Amino acid sequence: MPNLASSEALKALTDWWLDMGVEVDSARIDALMREVKAPESVLKSVNADADGAPKAAPRRTRGPTDWVAEATRAAAACDSMEALKGAIEAFDGCPLKATCEHTVVWDGVVGADLMVIGEGPGAEEDRRGLPFVGKAGQLLDRMLAAIGRSRTENTFITNVNYWRPAGNRNPDAEELDVCRPFVDRMVELGKPRLIIATGGVPAKALLGSDDGIMKLRGTEYTFTTPGATSIPLIPILHPAYLLRRPQDKSRAWRDLLLIEKRLNELG
Ligand code: URA
Repeated sequence: MPNLASSEALKALTDWWLDMGVEVDSARIDALMREVKAPESVLKSVNADADGAPKAAPRRTRGPTDWVAEATRAAAACDSMEALKGAIEAFDGCPLKATCEHTVVWDGVVGADLMVIGEGPGAEEDRRGLPFVGKAGQLLDRMLAAIGRSRTENTFITNVNYWRPAGNRNPDAEELDVCRPFVDRMVELGKPRLIIATGGVPAKALLGSDDGIMKLRGTEYTFTTPGATSIPLIPILHPAYLLRRPQDKSRAWRDLLLIEKRLNELG
């Protein structure tokens, strides 16, 4: 393990590994995150409330409750996106909720034929309560605009996890599992013609694949919910990755053209 000076450097490194398809142990990353010397601002937001009082450590709230079953029941009871948003905001089964500012659910046009599903909120998303509004989100908006898409007109945007992991690490399997019934229900209610999974975390989670994003990207798969809704899904490189490796934008462009073509065919 290289000597890492900050939690940002550790996050960049673990994102890089994930982009390349390397398996990352999130418990070990959490432990490392506590060891690295984080800048004052990061330590403050991770460890303290807005008034500076120390935050309670995130707790596994599983106990006797089966939170995946609870999420499944809550999601199934929703018959609109607004109801689903309320159910997610009211859900207390993900320990990440204890350390973040907002539950970040969705943005964009309900019922749009294109649904973008990302990894989960970062710092800016947590601050504003909306998905993909930081630097990566701004690039995502430009990528979508290149194929005539925008969150204000014809695209719905969400994530596979609704709460920002402290220190910005990737959500782990347990955190993704409790969110999954809500993600499935969102697809069933939204009925998009096509789903874009941005990056390795949502692509692997939604497809149940161990392959890295470099292998998965640019190919069409079928995503099927437990309620038997089947939707074409195309994984693309995450915009945050493209900010780190602009030389891979040509790959993203090819994938966007495929998405545009498929949307025209499916329209
Ligand atoms: N990255 C994501 O995958 N989702 C967001 O909402 C923001 C950044």
